[in-house]
Amino acid sequence: MGSKTLVRIAPWDSCIPDMACAAVCPEVFELDEKAGRAVIRREYRLGGPGEGEVPGELAACVEAAAGVCPLRIIKVGRAGG
Ligand code: SF4
Repeated sequence: MGSKTLVRIAPWDSCIPDMACAAVCPEVFELDEKAGRAVIRREYRLGGPGEGEVPGELAACVEAAAGVCPLRIIKVGRAGG
């Protein structure tokens, strides 16, 4: 299936970063040491460092990350609808 899942860290400036997201979903999230915040890995990035789109098979991964973020700033949505 070609469905895509949108993921955003928003507001990105709020990220601590405790890296709980990367602990459960390292395929998508990583630490940007310079910025001191979590970012979407470059291969999945859309616009800014906290915005991306992942293939359907990583939907559960980003959902899990959203579930463990202590600030609840990881937003997940279906692309194109
Ligand atoms: S879990 Fe949330 S607060 Fe923690 S690093 Fe990831 S986005 Fe930032």
